[in-house]
Amino acid sequence: MITENILPRKQLEFNAAMDRYQKNIGYKLFSIYISLVNTFTPFLLFFLYDFNGLSTLTVLAAIFIAYIAADFINGIVHMMLDNNDSYTGLTGPFVASFHLHHRTPVYKKRNILLVYFFESGSKIWLTVYLVLLFALLITHPLPATIALLLILFAVFSCLAEVSHYCCHTESNMFTRMLSSVRILLPKSHHVQHHTNDNKRYAFLNGISDPLLDIIASFLFKGYKNNTDLHYAKYTGQETANR
Ligand SMILES: [Zn+2]
Ligand SMILES: [Zn+2]
Repeated sequence: MITENILPRKQLEFNAAMDRYQKNIGYKLFSIYISLVNTFTPFLLFFLYDFNGLSTLTVLAAIFIAYIAADFINGIVHMMLDNNDSYTGLTGPFVASFHLHHRTPVYKKRNILLVYFFESGSKIWLTVYLVLLFALLITHPLPATIALLLILFAVFSCLAEVSHYCCHTESNMFTRMLSSVRILLPKSHHVQHHTNDNKRYAFLNGISDPLLDIIASFLFKGYKNNTDLHYAKYTGQETANR
């Protein structure tokens, strides 16, 4: 029987994946394409759809449900990526670059609109969702309330990246106020994702973390003794946002 120490192999695969990520311009161009679709498709749908008949209460309910759904689903995606150690193949460089948010949680400071645009470039799953949603809403119009909820979910999924950015990088009064009322992600809540293991994957406002923590404890062993070790020998460049 052949025994193999998995860690050195994973570290080599990680470094090779980051090398491809940094050297192949195709990954950067693809991220910009993803950012363009994720940023502008929801606003195109807002423009094309007629929401005039909706009451204020209905709109507020759609915002509330979409916000919680975005916190939960983005937390699930974060959980799956943090525990993904597949660095080979076409998607490997995206997985490897994602793991570096644990090594360097603080972002480079930049305009908040640029954060919204560029950070949405890692959300390939959201692009698939938006392309399907666009095709659905154009060919089979849904009730306006449902359409609004589904579009808002996409906007809040991108906003989740801004919330995570603010949590680590901004300390102005406005973002502190929004996080204190739990619209954005509070630092005191999210810090456990980085100090503990397999905890607090939500990053819009963290409201769904109690449920996500239970799901994570069933599905995964955590990142501290797993994927976090895979970048230990990486000495190359950070990602563009760090
Ligand atoms: Zn993480
Ligand atoms: Zn974080």
